[in-house]
Amino acid sequence: MKNHYPLPGAAEHVSQPGLPPRVLLDVGDPMEGPTLVVFAGIHGNERSGLESVRRLNRAIDHDQIAVRGRILAVSGNRKAIACNQRFIDRDLNRRWGRTSSSPALGVVSAEDEEQRELVEVLEDARRASPTEEAGGVVLLDLHSTSGKTPAFCCLADAPGNHRLAFALGLPVIFGLEETADGTLLGHYNDLGVPGLAVEGGQHEDPRTIERQVAAIWVLLASIGILDPGLTHVKSATQALAAATKGRPQAVEIVYRHPVHEQDDFKMVSGFASFQRVTQGTVLAHDRRGPVLAPMDGRILLPLYQGEGEDGFFLASDMTAAKLSFLHILRQLRVDRALKLLPGVHTVDGEDAFKVTDSPLRGVNRRVLGLFGYRREGEDNVISRRRQLQ
Ligand SMILES: [Zn+2]
Repeated sequence: MKNHYPLPGAAEHVSQPGLPPRVLLDVGDPMEGPTLVVFAGIHGNERSGLESVRRLNRAIDHDQIAVRGRILAVSGNRKAIACNQRFIDRDLNRRWGRTSSSPALGVVSAEDEEQRELVEVLEDARRASPTEEAGGVVLLDLHSTSGKTPAFCCLADAPGNHRLAFALGLPVIFGLEETADGTLLGHYNDLGVPGLAVEGGQHEDPRTIERQVAAIWVLLASIGILDPGLTHVKSATQALAAATKGRPQAVEIVYRHPVHEQDDFKMVSGFASFQRVTQGTVLAHDRRGPVLAPMDGRILLPLYQGEGEDGFFLASDMTAAKLSFLHILRQLRVDRALKLLPGVHTVDGEDAFKVTDSPLRGVNRRVLGLFGYRREGEDNVISRRRQLQ
């Protein structure tokens, strides 16, 4: 097992040899402005995030950059990072929130331990960040992909997050976060902590690190921790604009093709994320025959390498007009009328709806999703309004 650590940071957090330190970077004062918490390597084979933090650290140090607030960067799945694996026992970007604290039958996975430590670091950061007026805590989760993908960001659908994401200028994918239950960002979003994930590109592509670093600079300036006039921020803004050229500002997932182990799923070669496809195009083959695009749209994250539960996604473009329309509807609380939909019921004393089985169940869920309600629980019967609006 080869590794290149230690990384810069607080050495006291290195508890075991070979593992990266938990805290990679901690500069500034949370009493003076917002706190940005950067996660690197929540998936252990996505080590670009660690290098991005290292570069940021070096630049801040070298150029004596003034920080108004606090920048805290932490490593995610330390044991998996040391082995260059996505995870040891389970995906660390799942089981956050309601079910995370009660491992079944007392079995504790390697990731339960990582998660417990991360929660501690985050709760400390939230306690140390005094008030909402100072900007509070904002999360940035750095990722990369196995297949060739341009940089993009995804987020839990809430206007507080929209502002963060659009400041970066990278394409925003809505609805991706909803396809996975119990993600880190989804959970903290429900607690009122805004945040977004940046997918920088393919794991080994050197541009992935450049885009991740650029995203950190721009985000730091947009939330007020750094001076927007800094040379680093200006060139980062240009770099992200160049990486985004010709791609839509925002898309929303309209279809997910699930893959099961025995499917023998194989993508047709040559598809790239954001490419437009028309209904009926053969996108893949599996043991049942050709897999066709069920509608027109843009293909996202086609599965070319490794295993995964998502064969591909289809997305449709989302215009700025549609986004502001939704924002206005939410502010008007038009959602109170959602209980009039057949098969949708209010839940006593809670800002939530119950969606019962009916032919309209899929449509109802989608409407609730548009209003910022998020499915939860094993059976996904309840849709709860996100705290962050
Ligand atoms: Zn990842």
